Amino acid sequence: MSYCLNPNCPQPQNHHEEKICKACGSQLLLKDRYRAISFLDSGGMSRNFLALDTDMPQEKRCVVKQFFPAPQVLDDVEAFEKSIELFQREGAQLDRLGADSTQIPKLFAYLEQERRFYLIQEFIDGQNLREIIKESG
Ligand SMILES: [Zn+2]
Repeated sequence: MSYCLNPNCPQPQNHHEEKICKACGSQLLLKDRYRAISFLDSGGMSRNFLALDTDMPQEKRCVVKQFFPAPQVLDDVEAFEKSIELFQREGAQLDRLGADSTQIPKLFAYLEQERRFYLIQEFIDGQNLREIIKESG
């Protein structure tokens, strides 16, 4: 399955081979590479998806983290800038800490597509990303 990343999509589930969402016309692949396949969880200012890296021979699993602030943040320029800064800082933190840790996911990419921001992270089975980040500061 491919999962549409548009938060307003009326029907986010698509067939695996699709590149464009049938319901809303959004790109299903990020940078023509990362394909979200299911919704994991949401919280704070992001939504997490299980995804596949289609450039890898085994279509390795990864996590797509979409910057998704609360509606009141979207209406407040200052709050929005602050939260996007936090989101970028989280990416920088993962990049630094995840490189030589088996517990903290590695950062694969920070990207923007269709005016939304994403972190692409290593998928660590059985680990809750938020708890890890909380523990490691
Ligand atoms: Zn869609």
